[in-house]
Amino acid sequence: MVLDGCDMVVPGLPSNPLSSLEAVIEGNNVTISEKGEALVTGKQELRAPWRDKLLADGTPVDNVIMCTEDVQSNVIISRGCFAAAAGKACRYCGLGAGFESNTPLASFSETLKAAEPVIEAAAIAINSGWRGFLNLAGGATPPARRDQWTTDMAEAVMTRFHAFVDADILSELQIALQVYPPDDLGELDKWKRFGINSAEFDSQIMDPAYFKAICPGRGEQRMWQEAQEAAAEVFGRGRGSVANVVTGIEPMAGLLEGIEERTAKGVYILPLVFMSWPGAAMEGMRPASVEWYVEAFEKVADIHLKYADTMDVDLTEDDRWGYTRRSQSNTFSVAPLKNEWIRRLQEMGKLPPGLPYQYGVEAV
Ligand code: SF4
Repeated sequence: MVLDGCDMVVPGLPSNPLSSLEAVIEGNNVTISEKGEALVTGKQELRAPWRDKLLADGTPVDNVIMCTEDVQSNVIISRGCFAAAAGKACRYCGLGAGFESNTPLASFSETLKAAEPVIEAAAIAINSGWRGFLNLAGGATPPARRDQWTTDMAEAVMTRFHAFVDADILSELQIALQVYPPDDLGELDKWKRFGINSAEFDSQIMDPAYFKAICPGRGEQRMWQEAQEAAAEVFGRGRGSVANVVTGIEPMAGLLEGIEERTAKGVYILPLVFMSWPGAAMEGMRPASVEWYVEAFEKVADIHLKYADTMDVDLTEDDRWGYTRRSQSNTFSVAPLKNEWIRRLQEMGKLPPGLPYQYGVEAV
């Protein structure tokens, strides 16, 4: 939804029985209220016309695409979660809790077959003008799938994309593998040959003690950090190495210290807002206060600004598509940071005043 007075696209959240907020959707209109008092109104996100186009077999793009209008499109390259299957799901995560530990993993060919209509749909969106972050999502893959398997899958997916979309157009997008780090970081050089230009190794928590406690199935934190640094080297500082961090769980001092340490090494951190997911070990935990988040995101914007000119393209000038784009209206729970970042750029005269623009939705 897009709240009145703000062009940031914010996602609906899973229902939280402990929340005092209520969102009511009537047609295109959204009202968020607390104890019967309306706090803010807004509209449903604009719907891109390419959603109504058809795949070769007649299936509407909208039925298969895993894509937000202005930012991200996902192609699943491995289903399941190794950490959750081992009974060690990250404690904030409701996705892992949904994976049955005894469900057999889909084979290479089954995974690719399931991805093919999604690739075709994403290609239609791209050829219709969609640009953004193309995420080949593998998540927490089991050890046997972390090296050659992932590399082979990335090659197969990118080969299919190249059959649909001109290489020049594909190169405009930020295309990342979002996977468990390979044992051999030399795999990253192979990914680059297929047109991958970024890697997302989500280390999620900054403080080492909190990392161990919150993400017991993710192995050593240092392994994730080394992979992030390798990605910055192979694909470029900033856009070439991105990582989600869930904020609002660990104390602010350690969080900011960690974000600055990572940013100084060329890793572009995307701070997500903690939310209470059904099925997660932390389901029902109250998020940090609004004041906490405003302070945290102002300080993360300070950090991004401090290191902006150390990235492969200065973050205050970066107009490439994807997460580091300087004027991007952003869906997902990184919107508060983007909002603050845009405000800073407007103050610096690097962006015109007024509301940011919803990229991609006007594409036909
Ligand atoms: S966040 Fe953790 S539990 Fe959730 S899918 Fe990823 S690795 Fe698994």
